[in-house]
Amino acid sequence: MIAPWWKTGVIYQIYLRSFRDADGDGIGDLKGILDKMAHFDETLGVQAVWITPFFPSPMNDFGYDVRNYTDVDPLFGDLATFEKLVSAAHRRGIKVIIDFICNHTSDQHPWFLDSRSARDNARRNWYVWADPRPDGTPPNNWLSLFGGSAWEWDQKTGQYYLHSFFREQPDLNWRSPEVRAAMLDVLRFWIDRGVDGFRINNVQRLMKDPGLRDNPVSAVQHRPRRSMGPYHMQSHRHDRGHADLHPLLAEMRTVLDTHRPGFPRLAIGEVHARDPEQWATFFGPDNDELHLPLNYSLITTPWNARAVRRAVDRTEAALPDGAWPTYVLGNHDEHRLASRVGAAQARVAAMLLLTLRGTPTIYYGDEIGMTETDVPVQCQQDPWGVRMVGLGRDGCRTPMQWSDKPNGGFSGCEAQQLWLPVNDNHPVCNVSAQLKVSDSMLALYRKLLFMRKNSPALQLGDYRPLDRVPKDCFAFRRVHEEEEFLIALNFGDSEMTVDLAGAISGGKTLISTHPLKEMYRVDDALHLRGNEGLVVKVAR
Ligand code: BGC
Repeated sequence: MIAPWWKTGVIYQIYLRSFRDADGDGIGDLKGILDKMAHFDETLGVQAVWITPFFPSPMNDFGYDVRNYTDVDPLFGDLATFEKLVSAAHRRGIKVIIDFICNHTSDQHPWFLDSRSARDNARRNWYVWADPRPDGTPPNNWLSLFGGSAWEWDQKTGQYYLHSFFREQPDLNWRSPEVRAAMLDVLRFWIDRGVDGFRINNVQRLMKDPGLRDNPVSAVQHRPRRSMGPYHMQSHRHDRGHADLHPLLAEMRTVLDTHRPGFPRLAIGEVHARDPEQWATFFGPDNDELHLPLNYSLITTPWNARAVRRAVDRTEAALPDGAWPTYVLGNHDEHRLASRVGAAQARVAAMLLLTLRGTPTIYYGDEIGMTETDVPVQCQQDPWGVRMVGLGRDGCRTPMQWSDKPNGGFSGCEAQQLWLPVNDNHPVCNVSAQLKVSDSMLALYRKLLFMRKNSPALQLGDYRPLDRVPKDCFAFRRVHEEEEFLIALNFGDSEMTVDLAGAISGGKTLISTHPLKEMYRVDDALHLRGNEGLVVKVAR
C-alpha cells in the first residue's frame, strides 16, 4: 500500500504575518506566500505548508480570535487570493493546511454578540455562561492561561462567560448541537476550497467538566516553559481534557474523511500532553481521531542526548498500533530553536528532526537558523507579553529574512511600518546569502530534505536506537527493506568515537552537520567532532 503524503512528507509552518509582505503595509499576506512558492518545492522540497490564521479578526491574539470563519481578513487578501494560492500550491504538488480555531471565537463574532445580548437569545448557550457564586465571585477557580480568572463578568445579563485565553476570546460551548453543526460546516467550507488538512487548536480545551467543578491544587511541580504563575499551580482536571472530547474529535475526523469521498483530509491537533501515554490517546481507540497529534516532547525535553533519546523512545513506545509519530522543534508560541539550543546544536537538531521516524514540521526561518529577536518594549505586539511582562511571543515571530536588502527582503515598506522589527542579523542570516554558501544552515536543511525525500528508509523505515554509545551521543538506525541509515548525533562539544562493531556492517558517510570535504568509509568506529551529526549509508 502506498503511504499517505502526510507520513512521507515534511510540513513547513508559515507564520503568515511574518512570511512575506506583498502589498507593502508591513504585514505578511497571502499574495506574499504566492510569490514565494518556489521556496517550498525548489528550495526546500517540503510536501505541505501550514498557514497560520488569515480569517477576519480584531487581532487580539493575532488571528487566533476569529470574527468570521469563512472569509479572509482584508489585511491578508481575499478569498480569491486564497483559492489562487491553493491552486498554485497544488500545481506544485504541495498540500495546504490551515488552522481550525475551534475552542473560542472572538468576542466580536456575531455568534457571541448574539449570545451576550440577552439571556433568552437563541445563541445564549453557544458559549459557556454561568452564574456567580453567592458572594458574586466567578463560578469556579478556573484560570486563563494568559493570566487572571477564566471568567469575565457581563454586566448587562448578570452572568460570567468562560475564556480559557484572553477575555476577548470566549470559549464555544461544544456541548451545544448547534455549535457542533455550525463548526463542522466550517470544516466543510474550507474542504470545498481545496484545503488538504487542518491544525485543530487547543484540542484538550474543547470539552470541560459540565458541572464546572473547581480544579484541585496541583500535587506535581510543573516545569512550564513560560511562567510559574498561579495557572501552573492548579491541576487542570476539570477545565480541560474531559473524556467527551474524544467522540467529538471522531466526529470531526468523519467530516474530514467523508466530505469529499475518496479524498480524506488530514487532522493535526494541538495537544499539550502530560506524558506520551496521554498524548497517544488522541489518535483515538481505532485511529479514528487525529492523524497527527502534535508532539512537543522535543521542545520540552532538556537538550542532551539521554533526555532526547528517552523522549523519542517514549514516543515510539506509546504509539498505538497503526499510529504515526510526528515531531516539532519550534512554532509561533515557543522561543526560537537556534536560541534555545545554540547555533551549533541547531544543526544537530535539524538532522534529528529530519531523520527521525515521524512527520517533521519545520517552523519558518529555522531553515536559516533565525534566532530569537530581542524586540524593544515599544515595538512589542503580543498582548500576552504586553499584559504579562516577559511572556511575549514576538521574538519568534519576526519577519522572515529573505535577503540582505532593507527589511530583510520581507517588505518594501518603511522600516518603522513593519509590524515587528527584522532581526539585526539579517544582513548575514538570510535565504539568498545562505543559498550561495555550501555549508550554510540552509544548505544543510536542503541536503537533509533531499535525502529524506528520496529515501524510503528515512520516510518509513523502522527506528532502532543504538545502546552502546558515549554519554553525549544519540545514535539510531533507520531500516526499510534493503535500505539502511545510521544517524549519530553528538550533543556535546568534545570529539567522540562511537563503537559500531556488531551494530552495522560498515558504510559510507553521506551528510555531516559540519563541512565534510568528501565522503569516507565507516567500519567499526565512527568519529564525531564536537557538535557534529552524521548520516551514514549502511552497506547491506
Ligand atoms: C495558538 C496560540 C494562541 C492560542 C490561543 C493556540 O492554538 O497556537 O498562538 O495564542 O491558541 O488562541
